[in-house]
Amino acid sequence: MAQINENYLKLQAGYLFPEIGRRVREYQASHPDAKIIRMGIGDVVLPLAPSVINAFHEGVDEMARQTTFKGYGPEQGYDFLREAIKNNDYKERGVDLSIDEIFISDGSKCDTGNILEIFGAKNTIAVQDPAYPVYVDTTVMGGRTGKVQQNGFYEGIVYMPCTAENHFSPSLPSQKADLIFLCYPNNPTGTTATKEELAKWVSYAKANKSIILFDAAYEAFISEDHVPHSIYEIEGAKEVAIEFRSFSKTAGFTGTRCAFTVVPKELMGYTESGEAYSIHKLWYRRQSTKFNQVSYPVQKAAAAIYTPEGKKEVKATIAYYMENARIMRESFTQLGFKVFGGINAPYVWIHSGSGLTSWELFDKLLSEAHVVGTPGSGFGPSGEGYFRFSSFADREKVVEAMERIKKIRL
Ligand SMILES: *Cc1c(COP(=O)(O)O)cnc(C)c1O
Repeated sequence: MAQINENYLKLQAGYLFPEIGRRVREYQASHPDAKIIRMGIGDVVLPLAPSVINAFHEGVDEMARQTTFKGYGPEQGYDFLREAIKNNDYKERGVDLSIDEIFISDGSKCDTGNILEIFGAKNTIAVQDPAYPVYVDTTVMGGRTGKVQQNGFYEGIVYMPCTAENHFSPSLPSQKADLIFLCYPNNPTGTTATKEELAKWVSYAKANKSIILFDAAYEAFISEDHVPHSIYEIEGAKEVAIEFRSFSKTAGFTGTRCAFTVVPKELMGYTESGEAYSIHKLWYRRQSTKFNQVSYPVQKAAAAIYTPEGKKEVKATIAYYMENARIMRESFTQLGFKVFGGINAPYVWIHSGSGLTSWELFDKLLSEAHVVGTPGSGFGPSGEGYFRFSSFADREKVVEAMERIKKIRL
């Protein structure tokens, strides 16, 4: 008898995006003339940059000739890409990494999900609430939780509420946490952490021999000088943190697939008897056993974002999205909403202040303005009452969506 992993049955049925899809389809079916504008799912809309496309084509051509053809690549990714990451993303910010601390992958979703495999089942895991759904769901799938409770929380996970009251910066958990997922700039709230706040987490992790799982998928959207780009800008963080980055939002690679994870050599985990063991060794072993890298043309395309031309092009794309965010911020502020994010992240996080739940606001915006956003409660119980708008959209659509919303009574 083939038994299933019953932990999957603990997952909450109405996963956020399918539920949004269902409501939109139903509405569209009964209102065929409604021109619905979708600003819900955080997926990019602009094409890959010209330098990226050129490099991509070159990579494909190399695969077409016997003299330049490539089979399996190096286990952790090609050196040309890891060198570019090391120099541009880290060295320029005063962080020294060796290239073998950088693991190229096909996505941060996969890496943030897979990383728990190398950690023991007894770890207590802390997440920001609300959060990117992968952290909680992967914890549940791995059998590290009990059932979901009435209040939407899973038994065994430490939730750290992030609301306007604490400026979306959670306090240290009262219960000891061994693995801590932090996402900055944050999805869904669009907010950031200061160096001081990150330093607080680094010293907590040191004191408790915990590890921070730092998701920096939106690093490229940081516009304010004082906002840290990497957890490793904090003294001592290499001893306690893994950092995840992705080309998905940075350079429109959501459908192309390339990301990387930094696992410093000095980062240690512990055996049950308390002996230190290298996390780098474990992740290397995991990846070399179960993963065969990202295709050569894709890695070559990713490296092109670090060329002078590539940098300019990627910056322009990000500026386009961030202008969308500015337009949304301004519109919702005028409408009297409390508005957060949208300055160092492509998400605008709003609160109506009128007592509407997130799903009530969703239905109202869908039926009265034909605009789709994402209900904050779908990212965790503390997201209730909030709503996320993604700036990954065409400018005309953003402008039109804002005009329509201004016309309805909220
Ligand atoms: C989009 C996103 C990612 C990137 O996932 P990929 O698998 O690299 O496309 C990672 N973390 C967060 C919080 C995201 O929103």
